[in-house]
Amino acid sequence: MEFEKYKTMHFPRDVLVGHGVISSIPSIVSTYLRGGSVVIVSGNITYGLAGKEVETLLREAGFDTHILITGPASFQNIKEVEDEMKELSPGLLIGVGGGSKIDITKKVAADLNVPFLSVPTSPSHDGIASPRASIKGNGSVVSETAVMPLAIIADTAVMVKAPYRYLAAGAADVISNETALLDWKLSSRVKGEDYSSSAAALSEYSSRELIEKAHMILPGVEESVWLVTKQILASGTAMAIASSSRPASGSEHMFSHAIDLLGKSKAIHGEQCAMGSVVSMYLHGGNWQKLVSVYDTIKLSIKARDYGLSDDDVIRALATAHRIRPDRFTILGETDLSLSAAEKALEVTGIIG
Ligand SMILES: [Zn+2]
Repeated sequence: MEFEKYKTMHFPRDVLVGHGVISSIPSIVSTYLRGGSVVIVSGNITYGLAGKEVETLLREAGFDTHILITGPASFQNIKEVEDEMKELSPGLLIGVGGGSKIDITKKVAADLNVPFLSVPTSPSHDGIASPRASIKGNGSVVSETAVMPLAIIADTAVMVKAPYRYLAAGAADVISNETALLDWKLSSRVKGEDYSSSAAALSEYSSRELIEKAHMILPGVEESVWLVTKQILASGTAMAIASSSRPASGSEHMFSHAIDLLGKSKAIHGEQCAMGSVVSMYLHGGNWQKLVSVYDTIKLSIKARDYGLSDDDVIRALATAHRIRPDRFTILGETDLSLSAAEKALEVTGIIG
């Protein structure tokens, strides 16, 4: 039989992480800009945190620089940014923000075929280093294929200023790789899905590191930001190796997206994934108590009511979460969980009740 395997992987060209790396942006831009202007996409708050500094650095270095301030990652905002972008003949885009601004930039970069740099202002989830963008549509959130950033400039001195909650959520997004990996293995056994041991090993390494060092994830400590950001980047690399979010997104992420659909959660992505990973670990028959204790160490609540969610909300979200991505087989199976089973799983693990 002829050899027919093939695989494509996309990685960032430069990854800069650490104290003060934002000052390297002009030299990165001069390396990659092949003509046209530089367009910075940022938000109201994140512009103050880092967008303005990036803009000033680039203007001082003589680059034709424009700034677009936008809102949440919705298709509406993406269209507006793209319309404004057309007047500016961009040669390079820079997304400066917590997550949604980077998601917008990533999608716009893919649509307009312009390279982009990711400048995260908080370490709140692994989207800062992945080729996928979460976009809000009509009452739903879709994970869109976009492009990998050409470079990631993660300045820990900037990110340490974000509220601690974002750091804990970013850590949880990586810790929840534990259940994503169980789902992937399950699917490879039950469905014969392709499984990459190298991607899985790296994903598992990143979550294990944060589980073991959870006591070092502390508020206001730049080294904690460094610790979490490194594993966010490792988790992003695992997704790049797999050419899929599979190593870092399973049933716990479907649960999070099902919660998003309710439209009333006050939790951020990583917090919802934390709840999802605990209940998913229970469904897998694994050591969910260990996850509960880790989230407790990093002071991240896994109680639904702390995020404005009723018992009924989360029971329904869990029971129907498998519908989010029917193509991705997980422990949630292919039909709704019975409401009584969902209730029991959430109750035993302490998410409700
Ligand atoms: Zn995530």
